[in-house]
Amino acid sequence: MNGAHEIEALVRRVVEQVLAGSGERRPLAAANWKMNHTSIEAAAFLEALDPGDSSCDIWIAPPATLLPGMKAIIERRNLPVTLCAQDVHEKENGAHTGEISAAMLKDAGAEAVLVGHSERREQGEGAERLQAKAEQAAAHGLRILYCIGESEAEYSAGLTKQVLARQLEAVRNIPANLLDIAYEPVWAIGTGRAAGKEDAQEIHAFIRLEVQRHFPDQSGAVRIVYGGSVKPENASGYADGADIDGALVGGASLHAESFQSIIHAFQKKGGSGG
Ligand code: PEP
Repeated sequence: MNGAHEIEALVRRVVEQVLAGSGERRPLAAANWKMNHTSIEAAAFLEALDPGDSSCDIWIAPPATLLPGMKAIIERRNLPVTLCAQDVHEKENGAHTGEISAAMLKDAGAEAVLVGHSERREQGEGAERLQAKAEQAAAHGLRILYCIGESEAEYSAGLTKQVLARQLEAVRNIPANLLDIAYEPVWAIGTGRAAGKEDAQEIHAFIRLEVQRHFPDQSGAVRIVYGGSVKPENASGYADGADIDGALVGGASLHAESFQSIIHAFQKKGGSGG
């Protein structure tokens, strides 16, 4: 364990809480590596990554096998990077072959976890299971980046807001200070067909109202980030959106240089001006 890193993480959390109380939100650039990268590639990524200033939180969600090795590099280089798991099992422990518990993820170095990514929903994870996963993660103090988004058919049928409101019900019981939301229209993920920045802002404003309804006193704590074909070329357009607090990035997060450009777009939003 590296004392300096632990203290820095503690300071970050205190700053987050103070900002949350004041209604200000730190931007968040989160990388979802999905089933990509070996330990050598992950180490090369971290060696190449220039995190820039500290005005934007940086999360990386690698495959679970990479968490301990990446944690060691992050501590050695004192990088301002939070490790996020891609999934968590809803049970504490037991006969669940191949699954990974919240306690194990924390032990391996994760401080946060994605819940409800559309690629998990496609594997049959429904509202009840996602609620149980989020509650289990929260019980272990993991932050949750809860992913919601409408399918192409729902989008075409004009059902987007209805679908999102329903999906948000699963995190009603999660403490607001452990929760962030990723709006990821399923038709935009990995397709190169990103949502227009005005459309994304409109949906984020809607999600913001829903979050305020769920957490009347604490909604300032919850960030709402956009995901779906975010690239260096379109990131600053999203950063301009008043209710877009960051990005969840798949393909463009696999290379340090392109992820860095996206971080930089949101650092400008976070007040570095540079
Ligand atoms: C994702 O899978 O969360 C994602 C947003 O992917 P991409 O950026 O590749 O569309």
